Amino acid sequence: MSRSVVQRCCVCGHESRIESSKIISDKLKLLYCGCKDPTCGHTWVTNLEFSHTLSPSALKLPEELREKVKTVPPAQQQNLFVSQ
Ligand SMILES: [Zn+2]
Repeated sequence: MSRSVVQRCCVCGHESRIESSKIISDKLKLLYCGCKDPTCGHTWVTNLEFSHTLSPSALKLPEELREKVKTVPPAQQQNLFVSQ
């Protein structure tokens, strides 16, 4: 089960739904939101933006190193990244 972002209405604090979205770039998406409280009716745009990397993607590693990682037990994988 996936978790979705629940943005609360900044006017009344009620839950909202994402009505639509627009991709601006690979790191920025606009979310068109609407308050679920029919007596409020507030609609707005929220920026969903990439902030920073915590752990680099394994896809950025050289192919040779990626293949080697698959053959080494997890406890020893860190040793592959120590410079000799
Ligand atoms: Zn509201």
